Amino acid sequence: MTQERWRLLERVGDHHRSGPVGGDSADRAELGVEAELDVLIETQDRDLLRQVDILLERLESGLYPVCVTCGGPVGRARQEAFPRATTCLDCARRS
Ligand SMILES: [Zn+2]
Repeated sequence: MTQERWRLLERVGDHHRSGPVGGDSADRAELGVEAELDVLIETQDRDLLRQVDILLERLESGLYPVCVTCGGPVGRARQEAFPRATTCLDCARRS
């Protein structure tokens, strides 16, 4: 379940990151996120929905992406250096 959740969050994050490329693709990215949410609502998985709510809040507050280990923000500089980073610098050092 945890793996599934993070794959989903990763996909939503990809939609978000592809947004600023152009007006058309930004619109499509928005639809992509909504489609993901439709699927989630169909699954009626409350825990997963809650995770997505948290993700969307973080998207809006600029804290995304979050560390998969501690749940904290990965950090803008780290994400730019390592676009696929899934852990914050502290957790990466610890592992
Ligand atoms: Zn961390």
